[in-house]
Amino acid sequence: MSKAVFPGSFDPITSGHLDIVKRAIPLFEEIVVAIGQNSSKSYLFSVEQRKSWLTEVFADYPSVSIGYYEGLTAEYCREIDAKFMIRGLRNASDFDYEKTISQLNHIIGKDLETIFFIARPSYAHISSTIVREIIKGGGDVSLLVPPNVKIDNQQKS
Ligand code: ADP
Repeated sequence: MSKAVFPGSFDPITSGHLDIVKRAIPLFEEIVVAIGQNSSKSYLFSVEQRKSWLTEVFADYPSVSIGYYEGLTAEYCREIDAKFMIRGLRNASDFDYEKTISQLNHIIGKDLETIFFIARPSYAHISSTIVREIIKGGGDVSLLVPPNVKIDNQQKS
């Protein structure tokens, strides 16, 4: 059974994340899009809000489920018996960072394999960080997030 985890903060999910999952669907029997919560990080949106958006966005994709974990991603993959991790690469700094994490995860995750997807040019400029900055500034992010993600100021955590 090929099971993969796509971990991230998804604060909020963007069209770039959605594109990566859609491209990974034909490769895996099961994909868990997992919110990794780090107690030392602060988030713009609550876990409940982020989870609710993910559930709506992937409602029509039967092989995709939503997960949540705290702590090490490699440990979470081991707990749910996922042998693969999915990551997206937008640029050279993503590559430098992800390369090291992937090498470490292969050791601590006991052969956990990271599968990388190069961002399509039309999504490579999108990041949750940029989306959050636009939201904080009161701008419209509807072209950067999936249509189900409706943002109003009440939703911020
Ligand atoms: P983190 O909180 O760990 O930075 P994110 O939630 O921002 O993670 O992203 C999760 C994964 O999605 C990462 O592998 C990141 O590189 C990838 N990703 C984010 N935005 C895009 C995009 N526009 N195109 C392709 N991959 C992306």
